Amino acid sequence: MAYEDMRQPIESGCPDGFQYMHPVMRKNFGLWKFHEHPKPGVLRHVAHSGDEIWTVKAGTQRILDVYSLRKLTEIGEKYGDGYVRFTIRSNIEYMVSDAAKVDPLITALTDAGFIVGGTGNSVAMISHTQGWLHCDIPGTDASGVVKAMMDELVDEFQNCNMPNRVHITTSCCQINCGGQGDIAINVQHTKPPRINHDLVANVCERPSVVARCPVAAIRPAMVNGKASLEVDEKKCICCGACFPPCPPMQINDPEHTKLAIWVGGNHSNARSKPTFQKLVASGIPNNPPRWPEATALVKRILKEYKEGAKDWERINDWIERIGWPRFFEVTGLPFTKYHIDNWRGARNSLNASTHIRF
Ligand code: SF4
Ligand code: SF4
Repeated sequence: MAYEDMRQPIESGCPDGFQYMHPVMRKNFGLWKFHEHPKPGVLRHVAHSGDEIWTVKAGTQRILDVYSLRKLTEIGEKYGDGYVRFTIRSNIEYMVSDAAKVDPLITALTDAGFIVGGTGNSVAMISHTQGWLHCDIPGTDASGVVKAMMDELVDEFQNCNMPNRVHITTSCCQINCGGQGDIAINVQHTKPPRINHDLVANVCERPSVVARCPVAAIRPAMVNGKASLEVDEKKCICCGACFPPCPPMQINDPEHTKLAIWVGGNHSNARSKPTFQKLVASGIPNNPPRWPEATALVKRILKEYKEGAKDWERINDWIERIGWPRFFEVTGLPFTKYHIDNWRGARNSLNASTHIRF
């Protein structure tokens, strides 16, 4: 094929989303009157014009194979109106303008093995950072953690009986491109990186690696006559930031790379202020393929939240009302000195850095 006949890339960003939108949604854009939640996995939006659109939401396994994708779109063609979209939590949503199509669509999805739910006060699909598919530094398989946990939380996805919605996230490194939520399961490195000195000179740009460290723990060094690096282990906070620009600074470790659980993160300011999440459990085994220890802890936290929170309290609201001491009491999680960051040593680490970082 001649070059000029080949499809040329479009370099102007995302395509216009309106062209893929259901015609009823396009027509009533910005003119919606109200919406309701008739049952789990289904939303009904009514426009000022009287038009209505029904949305049916189903969970997916997150990293989709082409066969599942074809199956999902075939269902959309046959039982829906041929319009779908994916949410940021990897759910697929089908939009139909005829109420009579809703139940057959749900039956078709369920018969094909997909789970309908994830709306209202459910445990929504766990979101995870992009993981090994696109990133070169994961310390765990975040999508595997999601699958293992959602298998255990499927009832909470299908039923909307939590006090409020619950957004769980996972993140596969400690730099963490996205693990912030009501409950977050994030990688935690517990040992400084081990350096493969034979490779550093060939692979790494040493000034970039030195500049990467947030606590100035990396110094250039000569090892066995070769240019390399050394780490001041007293300063190192095991963040893993040096590993992406310099893979010979290996920090992932089957034994010492763990998982940590954080709770109470909330971006929304609908009813209360946004909050940062806080560490509640650390050193949890990073134990594929089912991560039973981390899953058991998440289920324990969810059980206490479900029983103890008032209607509409998100996890951060619930903890703020009962207090952190009571949270640790009811969940039975041990509160240790490792939960407290008192910034001791910061003068010798953070303050000592003269690096200008962009
Ligand atoms: S969390 Fe870390 S390892 Fe995972 S995709 Fe994001 S940057 Fe990469
Ligand atoms: S970048 Fe992070 S892991 Fe690497 S030496 Fe510095 S503190 Fe330690």
